[in-house]
Amino acid sequence: MAAQQANDVIENQVRDLLGQMTLEEKVGQMTQIDFSVVSVENGQDADNPIDRAKLEDALFNHHVGSILNTPTTPNNKAQPIAKWRNMTQVIRETAAKTRLKIPVIYGIDAIHGATYTQGATLFPQAIGMAATFNTELSEKAGAITARAVKASGLDWNFAPVMDIGRQPLWPRLWETYGEDVHLAEAMGSAYIRGHQGEDFSAADKAPTCLKHYVGYSYPLNGKDRTPAWIGERALREYFLPPFQAGVLAGAPTVMINSAEVDGLPGHANYHYLTEILRGEMGFTGFTVSDWEDIIRLHTRDKLAASPREAVKIAVLAGVDMSMVPFDYSFYDLLLDLAKTGEVPQSRIDEAVGRILRVKLQSGLFERREPSIPVAGNFATADGQAVNRQAAEEAIVLAKNANGILPLSKQTRILLTGPTANLLSVMNGGWTITWQGDAEQWYPQDKLTLLKALQQKSAGKVTYVGGQRYSEEINIEQAVAQARQHDVVILALGENTYTETVGNIDSLELPAVQLQLARAIFAAGKPVILVTFGGRPRIITEIAEQAQAVLLGFLPGMEGGAAMADILFGNVNPSGRLPLSYPRAANDVTPYDHKPMEAFEANQYRPLYPFGHGLSYTQFETSGLTLNNNSIALGDSVEVSVKVKNTGKLAGKEAVLVYLHDLVGSVTRPVKQLKAFKKVELQPGEQQTLSFTLTPEDMSFIGVDKRRIVEPGEFDVMVGAETARFNVVAN
Ligand code: BGC
Repeated sequence: MAAQQANDVIENQVRDLLGQMTLEEKVGQMTQIDFSVVSVENGQDADNPIDRAKLEDALFNHHVGSILNTPTTPNNKAQPIAKWRNMTQVIRETAAKTRLKIPVIYGIDAIHGATYTQGATLFPQAIGMAATFNTELSEKAGAITARAVKASGLDWNFAPVMDIGRQPLWPRLWETYGEDVHLAEAMGSAYIRGHQGEDFSAADKAPTCLKHYVGYSYPLNGKDRTPAWIGERALREYFLPPFQAGVLAGAPTVMINSAEVDGLPGHANYHYLTEILRGEMGFTGFTVSDWEDIIRLHTRDKLAASPREAVKIAVLAGVDMSMVPFDYSFYDLLLDLAKTGEVPQSRIDEAVGRILRVKLQSGLFERREPSIPVAGNFATADGQAVNRQAAEEAIVLAKNANGILPLSKQTRILLTGPTANLLSVMNGGWTITWQGDAEQWYPQDKLTLLKALQQKSAGKVTYVGGQRYSEEINIEQAVAQARQHDVVILALGENTYTETVGNIDSLELPAVQLQLARAIFAAGKPVILVTFGGRPRIITEIAEQAQAVLLGFLPGMEGGAAMADILFGNVNPSGRLPLSYPRAANDVTPYDHKPMEAFEANQYRPLYPFGHGLSYTQFETSGLTLNNNSIALGDSVEVSVKVKNTGKLAGKEAVLVYLHDLVGSVTRPVKQLKAFKKVELQPGEQQTLSFTLTPEDMSFIGVDKRRIVEPGEFDVMVGAETARFNVVAN
């Protein structure tokens, strides 16, 4: 009831404002500009780089509704929190002087914590959060990030990424929760719950943005912002569900796919943006374009004959706000289109109404200063502890031959390789800068793998390494040192990148890394392979010869400490792979493949399968039972299974429940993850876990492209056990 009343109040305010607004004011609300448009040209390092005349021009003359990103664009860089508060304060105060006092909503890519605020708690990137299989951690990371965003005086976070990561070449794979639909739904929804709480008008909560709707993550050639060939059935089966989950979790904004699906750019797709997103998925918030993507319908895609036509196509397709971002071209063109009636007033009112609604729901109208103080809300000890736990749970122990790990603290270790002594390689893009590669600006108190090993070792840690991942380091010296140590930790992987900058032509590791590995193996000492990086680069030859393999992906600022703790056994690893780790560069079959992908000569034979991850203890799942082996169409099935720690150490285990629809009118995957739970168990401890498999879990997109459940047999698979149930037609 109270919620209904609050909604009514907001709806009245939206109507009231729309009634008072001029066309110019409305078109301005739909315009989002980059910070550089309102900042001084030089001297961005000043305490407050806002150019007041430019800001007044933006807010008084162009009625701009939103600003994004960071000062000093294009070399954008994290700023001190006090400066953020000052800058956003000037914007708030200026907006309060406009005729209708409509606040600006400031958007930021706080994708793994408040990336652009100096000293923020920076979590594992989404691929690492997915590897934790711990939704509670995702929720906490969301809550901590929202606090940091609000303490910085910022309003709106361009996260979570709900794209499915099934194309490992794609340079944004690590921004996703991996290849699985259910995992992405669960981790993304938990993040939204934490970030927004029950009500994102709360002082320490903030609105999220689902991106990049839809199909962006599956470029055929693996390059960023290139076409995806996704048919509507596959779109509905794999790519839409995480967005639907995000809408249900209450995300009030959606950012649009910068590329194209099936020949139609995301920003021109009325069917996706309006018919499906609104009509079917029930989204009521606003959509924002991605960077410069409206004009690109003309300049890049040649879908529109002019910039003016590009604006018309995009707005009519369903784009509510344009991330223009460097000028007022969108404002001018849309104003003109509205005056001639080519874009109807009703469509403008609809878009502006949606934007105002989110601003009202966010409580921005009442705020005349940052909503929470810095102390107690930013870079807190609690936040750091959650981050450490997340990093620990994000690391996957993929191999541990003869129990070589954990190492004794007395072990004499040679550490070598390009990812051994950098923080950037553990954090990835959107860290301090867009590309995340400004190592010189990383916090000095955070530990690289080398520093963490030195701190935690009681023996000897020698380091021979280069800083560049594709340039040769002193291999001879590394080999000579290897001979004088008990083990070699070989730290390989990728440098940092995001978006098109991170395009590569092959998943193979740079040749010099392989060369280093081969020379080290020749020295005859046991080798532990540690990798960091956003994509599963091919490590097969090395992993086969290594005694142990630890896959770090992008574990964030606590990654070095967490990795060292796992190596020495202070922490028992519990990460699981959120993707199938390919054995060869072009063998990228996902775990939920179709029968024909594992038929005759075809095989699902990754280096490590989806869900793989070892522990220093052993777990056994047993006693898989269903409450019913025959249910009516539309009913659910209760699953129960026991999980026991049969080893000698306490540990955490993610129990994964898969479902297989044996026969379908559309080919069904060999199995699909439908539920999971992570538990912590002491040695000898056993727990019984229960799960519910709903009709939704049994459904798929049928021949007519609608979601259906078909009668017939289903297998439930947990660990080594399988149980069958039958769905009977009513
Ligand atoms: C990216 C988005 C991001 C936006 C604003 C774009 O280039 O694709 O993910 O939110 O920039 O920084």
